[in-house]
Amino acid sequence: MTYKNTQLLIDNQWCDAANGKTIAVVNPSTGLEIGRVAHAGIPDLDRALLSAQKGFALWRNTPAIERSKIMRQAAVLMRERAADIGALMTQEQGKPLIEAKMEAMASAEIIEWCAEEGRRTYGRIVPARAMNVSAQVHKEPVGIVAAFTPWNFPINQVVRKLSAALATGCSIIVKAPEETPASPAALIQAFVDAGVPAGVISLVYGDPAEISGYLIPHPLVRKITFTGSTPVGKQLAAMAGLHMKRATMELGGHAPVIVAEDADIALALKTAGTMKFRNAGQVCVSPTRFLVHNAVKAEFTKGLVAIAEKLRVADGMVDGTQMGPLANARRVTAMTALTADALAKGATLATGGERIGTSGNFFAPTVFTDLPMNADVLNTEPFGPMAAIMGFDTLEDAINEANRLPFGLASYAFTSSLKNAHMLSQRLEVGMLWVNQGGAPWAEMPFGGVKDSGYGSEGGIEALEAYLNTKAVGIVCV
Ligand code: NAD
Repeated sequence: MTYKNTQLLIDNQWCDAANGKTIAVVNPSTGLEIGRVAHAGIPDLDRALLSAQKGFALWRNTPAIERSKIMRQAAVLMRERAADIGALMTQEQGKPLIEAKMEAMASAEIIEWCAEEGRRTYGRIVPARAMNVSAQVHKEPVGIVAAFTPWNFPINQVVRKLSAALATGCSIIVKAPEETPASPAALIQAFVDAGVPAGVISLVYGDPAEISGYLIPHPLVRKITFTGSTPVGKQLAAMAGLHMKRATMELGGHAPVIVAEDADIALALKTAGTMKFRNAGQVCVSPTRFLVHNAVKAEFTKGLVAIAEKLRVADGMVDGTQMGPLANARRVTAMTALTADALAKGATLATGGERIGTSGNFFAPTVFTDLPMNADVLNTEPFGPMAAIMGFDTLEDAINEANRLPFGLASYAFTSSLKNAHMLSQRLEVGMLWVNQGGAPWAEMPFGGVKDSGYGSEGGIEALEAYLNTKAVGIVCV
């Protein structure tokens, strides 16, 4: 599919920004500009807000079953269009085409789950205190949502918010990533084509700080949802708090992978090793700290290095590519700095550690061992193709290390002992634990973090709760 410029969507009309401003979109494999995206100003945001107000009035009064039908049609369209949309995503984000298509396909499942769950946003009847009294609990849509999403999963990060908002009867203004604008625009086009009325979804791009600084305090906006880094999440959560807005924050992580002495090492390598380099490690649940029992550490290290060295790193559009470039030049700078820091502090570089080529943002899959605890990569989220292996002697030590950081998003464990798995499920301070499997962010399961990784959940029935207000109604029949 040819890459085109991306416009704003306001009132179901694709339009340029009122001031005509645009931002360049760059292919991370080549470093070349491939298109432009409209840069909204305040007048565009005001139009989107008024449209969202109209959209909310209409959508909240649309029966859940009708909303569900339109959403399910959007899912059908996403499946039909996944190959074309995947190609757009690979050109703007860099991930291998197969991963991009899978992301577009997987969005359909999330839409369908929320569409169905929206039909089950039950209130309840509470046993009343007198026979002429009715005590009821109603669930109502929270109102206009402002959603801010990042560039690592341009569709997935939008569709989780969009689907839950629409299923509950909210309207939504999405501020999607300027670096990867075309694929989220294609997702939203599917909803428009499926019959979502004007004003229910608006899509804007521009200066993230300007847009969040305008929308979060705006009296028409009732709910904020953000996925991105912890520092930005804390700023936005503070602003939301100041203006008494509901908020969901899906922030950074630093996922521990505990490989116990009794683990199936081949399974651990195949699953966690593959996951590590998926999307070039730019995944909030990417395995980062590999905590491996000292009895199996040498074997595991050898295996992970072999996986890293065998990966085919190239332009995501090239057949057979297993890892593409980093999505932007900032990540290459970050990987280079983490490598220099680790080496200066005496870590052993088992493989990788350098940029590949001179054009595009390619960085070699990297594995470190023997890291001192003050190495930056053990303390800040690497968000790139970098694995750090550390040994441990007792599971207690591994748990302490896993819980040491302020992050608490995903975690992984490999063990054949039920007792270990049970203990880890109770002791790890995380939002998600996957044992003997890779990450499984299924639509029907909660997805979110604790501690500095944020709050709220973007999966399971919890995903919809975040977009609902609870109203207690007592009626005395006189
Ligand atoms: P960043 O912190 O500048 O931005 C992260 C995201 O937040 C981007 O999508 C950006 O557009 C948005 N953003 C930034 N300031 C904003 C504001 N004031 N209002 C609204 N949105 C704002 O960092 P970056 O260089 O784009 O990404 C690097 C870091 O971000 C990574 O190290 C990683 O920790 C984190 N990140 C996390 C996720 C995730 O899935 N949780 C996704 C992307 C990036």
